[in-house]
Amino acid sequence: TGKLNPDYRFDNFIEGKSNAHARAAAQHVVETPGGPYNPLLIYGSSGLGKTHLMHAVGNAIIGERPARARVAYVGAEQWMNQFTSAIRHGRMDEFKNLYRSVDALLIDDIHFFAHKERTQEEFFHTFNALIDGRKQIVLTSDRYPKDVDGIDERLKSRFTWGLAVAVEPPDLETRVAILQSKADQNQVKLPKDVAMFVAQRVRSNVRELEGALLRLSASARLRGEAMTVEFARATLKDMLAAYERMVTIDNIKRTVANYYNIRVTDLNSPRRTRSLARPRQVAMALAKELTQHSLPEIGEAFGKDHTTVLHACRKVAELREAEVKYREDYENLQRQLGF
Ligand code: ADP
Ligand code: MG
Repeated sequence: TGKLNPDYRFDNFIEGKSNAHARAAAQHVVETPGGPYNPLLIYGSSGLGKTHLMHAVGNAIIGERPARARVAYVGAEQWMNQFTSAIRHGRMDEFKNLYRSVDALLIDDIHFFAHKERTQEEFFHTFNALIDGRKQIVLTSDRYPKDVDGIDERLKSRFTWGLAVAVEPPDLETRVAILQSKADQNQVKLPKDVAMFVAQRVRSNVRELEGALLRLSASARLRGEAMTVEFARATLKDMLAAYERMVTIDNIKRTVANYYNIRVTDLNSPRRTRSLARPRQVAMALAKELTQHSLPEIGEAFGKDHTTVLHACRKVAELREAEVKYREDYENLQRQLGF
């Protein structure tokens, strides 16, 4: 199995509105492994702390019962590779023993199981064996399981048997706190105004935030310069340029409304007439593709729920495949939005 990273702990996981729910659930699992939150599934897009939280659970479980707890952490891809290699070398008993005898099984990025039927089948049995034995399972996924194509329905429903919690992109205050905490951990002196400057601009995920801090501290050390806002602006120039270009949902609404000769308010109205429904679907699909917003956030921006957005994305993809006109419209809009 993989190794737990000792640097991913609860005490250095900064809490904010965007992850409080997931963090609380993870801590609850440490207190009552195999309890009501089984499996615990943490989902959300890349760089938002899913892996960190998962390791924190593993580290904390071991920390509380160092002698007895057997915790297996493994990426979904690695798990699949081990499974196929076990088959090839006639070592399935060993493989089954390994994964069915743990107290906690942590599998990272299970969206990777999509369209891997044999792996899913084996995981289904592992899953059942562990749940029956009241052993804890923790999973992460880049999407809500129902929205992952190519996963068996039986598995999908099991993934949400326990608790599925989302991690969202952090708000400004949390981004500042994360920057300060990472700077402290690395003994980097990060002035408040620089932290604010970076956090205001680098908005998409925590990994990018860490990347920005790393560049700043490396470059300040190398050139022996003081870390000022001006220094940050210069050092992060290309990174920040990408964010300036980043489109917003409002931006997309304006562009789409203009393109189809309708009003922005029409895009938000619940009316279902074809002449409004199509542009609305296109706007939703563009928002999903060109912004970092989650399905629920996009839904909210249009007064709809996340399943409507998902449906819109599929519909638009279908139409772009099937009809030249839709393909051209979509590409024109992408271009107008700077892509
Ligand atoms: P994911 O698995 O969701 O893609 P990771 O868990 O790998 O994201 O997080 C990416 C980086 O951001 C890691 O270095 C992690 O420590 C850090 N990180 C994410 N969220 C937080 C947080 N709330 N507090 C501190 N560090 C965080
Ligand atoms: Mg991860």
